[in-house]
Amino acid sequence: MPTIIFRDDDTSFFTAPGRLEAIYGRVWEAGLPVCLAVIPAFHGDTRVYWTDGNPHDPGIPPEHRGKTENFPVSDNRDLCDFLDDKAAAGLVEICLHGYTHTFHEFITHDRALIRQKLDAGMAMLERVFPAASVRTFIPPYDRISPVALEELVARGFLISTQSLNLAPAPQLPPIAGFAAGPIRAGQTLFVCDDYLFSHKRAPTESLRLARRALARNDLTIVSNHYWTFFHPWRAQPNRPDYTAWNAFLDEALKRDKYEVTSFSAYAVRRAAPNTC
Ligand SMILES: [Zn+2]
Repeated sequence: MPTIIFRDDDTSFFTAPGRLEAIYGRVWEAGLPVCLAVIPAFHGDTRVYWTDGNPHDPGIPPEHRGKTENFPVSDNRDLCDFLDDKAAAGLVEICLHGYTHTFHEFITHDRALIRQKLDAGMAMLERVFPAASVRTFIPPYDRISPVALEELVARGFLISTQSLNLAPAPQLPPIAGFAAGPIRAGQTLFVCDDYLFSHKRAPTESLRLARRALARNDLTIVSNHYWTFFHPWRAQPNRPDYTAWNAFLDEALKRDKYEVTSFSAYAVRRAAPNTC
C-alpha cells in the first residue's frame, strides 16, 4: 500500500497549538501521526539571504522579527504540553530542526559547532518533550554540509532532507524525489525534493502536484510549513490554500488506499520487515 509521511517544519516558541490543530486536526482525529520539525531556540533576527531584500524568516511573527535574541521553545508551555500529550498518544513525532534556525545553519564544516548545536538541541527537546523519542533530524532550509551529515550518521539519526545535499556524502544512498533508503542498520534516509503546498504556488497547482505525488510514489513525504497556510502570519488560514489542503486530505486519509506513518515507525518497519 502506498505510504504517506506528513512532515511539518518550523514548530517553535512562536507556534500557537491552534495553528497546528487547524492544519493537522483531521489527521489527528483519524488517529494518525504527523512529524514536526521543532526549532529548539529560534533566533529572532533570522533573515532569508536567498530572497531579494533579505526578509526575515516568515516563521517568525512580525512583532518579533529583528530581535537579536534566541526564543527557546521551552518558554511556550502551552505548545510543549500540547505536543508532549500528542507524542504520548503516538500522534506526533518530534524531530530536531537545527538549533537557532539561522539561515543555512547546518552548512558549516565546523564539527565542534555542529556537535555543540546537536547536543544543545537534543537536550532541549528531551527536556520539554519527555514523552517523545527524538530520532530524526531535518536541516534548517533543507541545506546541510557533508560534515554535518557524517555527524548525524555517526549519532544514529534518521535524516530527512532534499537530494541536492547528498552528492558529497557517499555514505548515504543516492536517492531523489520522494523516497527512503537505508543508511545502515536501523537508520533510514528520507528524501523529499518538493514542498507541495506553498503560498508561492497557486493552491490548485499545489493540489494537482500533491495528488500526482500520491499517484506516482510508493512513499510520499508531504512537507509543509504550517505558517505557509497563514502567510503572512494572518490569524486564520488563507481560504484557497486551506481548501486545497483539505481536498488533499480527503484523498490522503483514505485508509483503504494509503498508510500514514512517521519517520521513526517507517524505519523500525524497514529494519524488521517480517514483524508487524
Ligand atoms: Zn525550517
